[in-house]
Amino acid sequence: MSNTLRQSELFTKTRKEAPSDEVSKNAQLLIRAGYIHKEMAGVYSWLPLGLRTLNNIIRIIREEMDAAGGQEVKLTGLQDPTLWKETDRWSDENVDVWFKTQLQSGGELGLGFTHEEPITRLMKDHVSSYKDLPRLLYQFQTKFRNEVRAKSGVMRTREFTMKDLYSFARTTEEHDALYARMSEAYTTIFNRVGLGKYTYKTFASGGVFAKYSHEFQTLTAAGEDTIYIHTDSNLAINEEVFTDEVCADLGVQKADFKPHTASEVGNIFSLGIRFSSALNLQFKDEEGKGTPVIMGSYGIGPARLLGVMVETLADEKGLVWPEEIAPFQYHLIVLDNGNEEVRADADRLFHEMKGKDMSVLYDDRHARAGEKFADADLIGIPKRIIVSEKTLASGEYEVVTRATGTSLFVHEQELLGN
Ligand code: ATP
Ligand code: MG
Repeated sequence: MSNTLRQSELFTKTRKEAPSDEVSKNAQLLIRAGYIHKEMAGVYSWLPLGLRTLNNIIRIIREEMDAAGGQEVKLTGLQDPTLWKETDRWSDENVDVWFKTQLQSGGELGLGFTHEEPITRLMKDHVSSYKDLPRLLYQFQTKFRNEVRAKSGVMRTREFTMKDLYSFARTTEEHDALYARMSEAYTTIFNRVGLGKYTYKTFASGGVFAKYSHEFQTLTAAGEDTIYIHTDSNLAINEEVFTDEVCADLGVQKADFKPHTASEVGNIFSLGIRFSSALNLQFKDEEGKGTPVIMGSYGIGPARLLGVMVETLADEKGLVWPEEIAPFQYHLIVLDNGNEEVRADADRLFHEMKGKDMSVLYDDRHARAGEKFADADLIGIPKRIIVSEKTLASGEYEVVTRATGTSLFVHEQELLGN
């Protein structure tokens, strides 16, 4: 992926209005800024600026999954009904989000909404002894979900990329250690993407094998969930488990919590032997005895994360991105007013920045200052560098920080890190 782009060559255009049927703030801004294209309700395409941003989130998640010992794979989206019947998750009564389709040669096929079943079956070919465990497998893969509601823009779509990791352990102690490792990796990810201070690890319902699961919930008015946060600690509990009993269990008073609206950006879940016993994934222990593998699953939705970021960080002028996430670091803007010297200076600076492998979107368009600034505000790149007659005369470039609006005058040497 190239690190520089001339805006005159970027095929997307900004627009003043979002489609009239688009109700969510994140999608309205992302469409207006040319990050995404709306195909239909709950279905969006990613355009260059949007894809670069999404890929930055994916890169951070991948780095942390690798650091935690994950091995990346990519399974298919097409799902075999016989497999899902073995775990009782094929029927529309048990799973209400399936997209199903027909094979021309006869028989049904599903479009995967999650991957516990196929990954468990895959591991049967590779796990036989205790020496083959523990393992962590993850992927960035398309999930299809026939969601009823599609009013939250990219936070809830009918097709989305999920990072799903699955852990395979020999004992509950080993599983608990992997679970704790994933929990830490998640905290690191939410800090790195700039949502740490708004994100709570909450207690959520645990299913059959564990008392609780945990969700990572980011505070935002656009969220669809309610979480309860303790008034003087970070302890947070999901609505569905917020009972006197659970509070007593955690040694706290129900009265000391307040409700907040939030969005689930990730979750970590102990699966126990639910899938390994149904699909017969076993390992032989040191005595040669067959034992079901203990599993966990760990999901994050990069696009939901991106949507939440827009909801929490954008202002009335447009998008605002943390540096690690932004599609480009610098938005170089030439205000030449027909002055060839100014344009030549901006071209030269762009060339220098390119040589330093800096990440730059160069607004080289022949447009009015007002239009360029409005677009730059909408697109939300962290630092704007202005080249004009004024900066040419002074020998310093104006650098404006998008998030705060603060402006500095900086020498070229400093800008280029020389
Ligand atoms: P929700 O309760 O919000 O529907 P979920 O419990 O169905 O979420 P999981 O199946 O655990 O979510 O998926 C893991 C992660 O994938 C979620 O934490 C979220 O970040 C993301 N995600 C889930 N559904 C969607 C969707 N329809 N669009 C975009 N991201 C999603
Ligand atoms: Mg769901």
